[in-house]
Amino acid sequence: MMEKSLTDKRFLIIDENLKQIREITFNAAIVSGRHCDDIKIMAVTKTVEPVLINYAISCGVNLIGENKVQELLSKINELKMECCKTHLIGHLQTNKVKQIVGKVDMIQSVDSVKVAQEIGKRSIESDIVTEVLMEINIGAETDKFGFSPEQAHEKVHELAEIPGIMVCGLMAVPPLCGEKNESRQFFSNMRRLFIDISNKKIDNVSMNILSMGMSADYELAIQEGSTLIRLGSAVFGTRKY
Ligand SMILES: *Cc1c(COP(=O)(O)O)cnc(C)c1O
Repeated sequence: MMEKSLTDKRFLIIDENLKQIREITFNAAIVSGRHCDDIKIMAVTKTVEPVLINYAISCGVNLIGENKVQELLSKINELKMECCKTHLIGHLQTNKVKQIVGKVDMIQSVDSVKVAQEIGKRSIESDIVTEVLMEINIGAETDKFGFSPEQAHEKVHELAEIPGIMVCGLMAVPPLCGEKNESRQFFSNMRRLFIDISNKKIDNVSMNILSMGMSADYELAIQEGSTLIRLGSAVFGTRKY
């Protein structure tokens, strides 16, 4: 079945896309004084069929991201996850936490103390510690979830106290900007916040991951210090909803 599929254009394009992404990542890493191994490449798999996700995994993808709990749970058993990790990257409602804890390696989209407490509670019930990122609304957009930078400074101390979770860094989805320098400013503001929080040296908080950069702007994000880029359409092509 795989052999027949390999001639399918949707498969071939994934291979080509990944090669191009790795090349761009390699060069952008050098610009930022780092090695490409310092930057994790996530394939965002929302709306993508498991057969295509498995193909991407066979091409070396070792981290995938899904936005929705339901979609993630409906696909996960069909995926070849031996060498691949999964992160939740979309807004998580408190009443869905119990379904997802233990099923993903990280929750990147922690946008309130309340949801963090629930993740902690459910993690303890399962005898695990769940790694999380704080989502930052870096563009102060009213229609987006996330802590403001000021709230992040304050709330990180509260999150650090919650048993059952471990804060590992920050995540952001900056506003879509036509202007390159505008995007660069959001990314560099994120980097600043990341360093400032890191410098607080809070127990139970490690600022290891700065998750920013999507298909349209990942090169810039890496240049500005991203350690994890989240790519959907750059890997799989335009999404069909
Ligand atoms: C969909 C999504 C992505 C990937 O978007 P592309 O533009 O297709 O790369 C990254 N992060 C989050 C949070 C998303 O929802």
